[in-house]
Amino acid sequence: MALLTKAPKGTQDLLPKQSWQWQIVEDVLVREGESYGFAEIRTPVFEHTELFQRSVGETTDVVQKEMYTFEDKGKRSVTLRPEGTAGAVRAFLEHGLYNDGLPAKLYYLTSCYRYENTQKGRLREFHQFGAEVFGAADSSADAELIALASDMFECLGIRGLRLELNSIGCPKCRANYHAALKEYFAGHQEQLCGTCLERLARNPMRILDCKNPECAKLAADSPTIQEYLCNDCRDHFEHLKGYLDHAQISYTVNPRIVRGLDYYTRTVFEFISNDLGAQSTVCGGGRYDGLMKEMGGPDTPALGFAIGLERLMMILQAQEIAMPDRPACEIYIAAIGERAQKKAFALVRELRQAGVAAQFDICARSIKAQMKYADKIGAQCSMVLGDNELDTGRAVLKGMKSGKQCEIGINESFLHDYVHTYTNMLESPEFEEIEG
Ligand code: ATP
Ligand code: MG
Repeated sequence: MALLTKAPKGTQDLLPKQSWQWQIVEDVLVREGESYGFAEIRTPVFEHTELFQRSVGETTDVVQKEMYTFEDKGKRSVTLRPEGTAGAVRAFLEHGLYNDGLPAKLYYLTSCYRYENTQKGRLREFHQFGAEVFGAADSSADAELIALASDMFECLGIRGLRLELNSIGCPKCRANYHAALKEYFAGHQEQLCGTCLERLARNPMRILDCKNPECAKLAADSPTIQEYLCNDCRDHFEHLKGYLDHAQISYTVNPRIVRGLDYYTRTVFEFISNDLGAQSTVCGGGRYDGLMKEMGGPDTPALGFAIGLERLMMILQAQEIAMPDRPACEIYIAAIGERAQKKAFALVRELRQAGVAAQFDICARSIKAQMKYADKIGAQCSMVLGDNELDTGRAVLKGMKSGKQCEIGINESFLHDYVHTYTNMLESPEFEEIEG
C-alpha cells in the first residue's frame, strides 16, 4: 500500500484516544476559566498580515521568520494566526466590546501556526488555551490572571511547575534600559549572531530572547531591567508580588524573562516544567498596556497568558496523570434477518434518545461477525434479535464479560426493562435473572 501523502512536517493528528483526553483537559480549562468570569471568543484562523506585524512586533522571531504569510486570490496579504492575542484584541476593538463594561475577560482555544524548526514540544501547527483581560491596570488583575493559570494546573493534578516572574517596565523606563543594553552589546558585537546585530539597532531587548548559545551567554551578563524600572513600574511589581505572597502562590523573579512578543509591558511570567526537555515553558503571559492604542483603539490596559496544549499534554503524560477512558459502547444489538434489523435500529434509537450509547450492525454482516465487532469495540452487553424474539416480544440481555443473562421485554416495556436490568447487572455480581 503506497500512501498518497503524509501529514505535513510539524503537524500532529489527534487520534480518538488522544482527542478524548484533550476534551477532558480542555473541559477543565474552560470550566476553571468560566468560574473566573472568562467568556469564549472565536476569531478567524487568518487575519490581515499587518495585524501581526504591528502587534507581535517587526523585530520578533515570530514576525521575522515564523509566519505563514501568503497572498490570497484577491492579492491581499493574509497570515495564519501565530498566536491568539492579536485577533482577540482586534475583535474587541472592532465590535466595540469596551462599551459592555470593563474589565472584559475573554478566553480562546485555538490552533496557531509558526514556521519553526520542529523538535519535541515545537510544532508548526500547535494549540493554545489563552486568557485575556482588557481594561484592568491594577496589579490585582495580574495576580488574578496568574492565579487562574496556577489553579488550572492544580485542577489537572500537575505537580512541580515553576512560576518565573519579571517586570519589563513601561516605554518610559525602558528607554534608559535600551540605552544601557545597547552600550553593553555594542562592546561585544563580534559575538552576536546576524539577527541580533540587527536587533541591536532596533530593539536590543530582543537579544535577551535569542536562542543562539553565544548570544544567550552574552545576555546572561547584561544589565537587568530591574535597575531601570521607574517608580510606578516598581510599585506595580511590588504590589503584584504582595498579592501572590498573600495567596501563597510561589514564584521566583527572573530578570532575564522578556517573552517572545513585542507588546509586553511591566509584568511578564512563565510557568516552566522539568518534564518538557528543552522546550520547558508550558505557559507564557504578561501585561500589554500599549497594544490597544497601537491598534487604533482607546488607551486600555490589558494582560493575558497562553498555555501550549501539546506541551500541557506532554506533562500530563510524563507525570502519568490518570485519565478516564472513553466510555465504550454500552449495548450492542445484533440482528438476524431484515425484520430483526429494522427492530434493532428502532431499539437503538430509543436507547440513544434516552442517552444510552447503543450500536447495531450497519454493514449487513453475519451474526458471528456482528458479535466479534461488539467484542472489539468493548460493548458492555449485547442482545440478539431474530424472528423468535420478535414473535415472543422478549430477548436476552447478556453481559459481554460476565456472560450473565437476563430476559427483557422488547416492546412497550423495553426502555424500563433495559435500564432496570442493566443497572442490576452492574450493581450485583451475583445477579442472574429478573422476573419479566
Ligand atoms: P518559545 O520560547 O518556546 O518559543 P514563545 O515565547 O514563542 O515560546 P508564546 O508565543 O508565548 O511562546 O506562546 C505561549 C505558549 O505556546 C508557549 O509557552 C508554548 O507552551 C506554546 N508554544 C509556542 N510556540 C510553540 C510551538 N511552536 N509548538 C508548540 N507549542 C508552542
Ligand atoms: Mg517561539
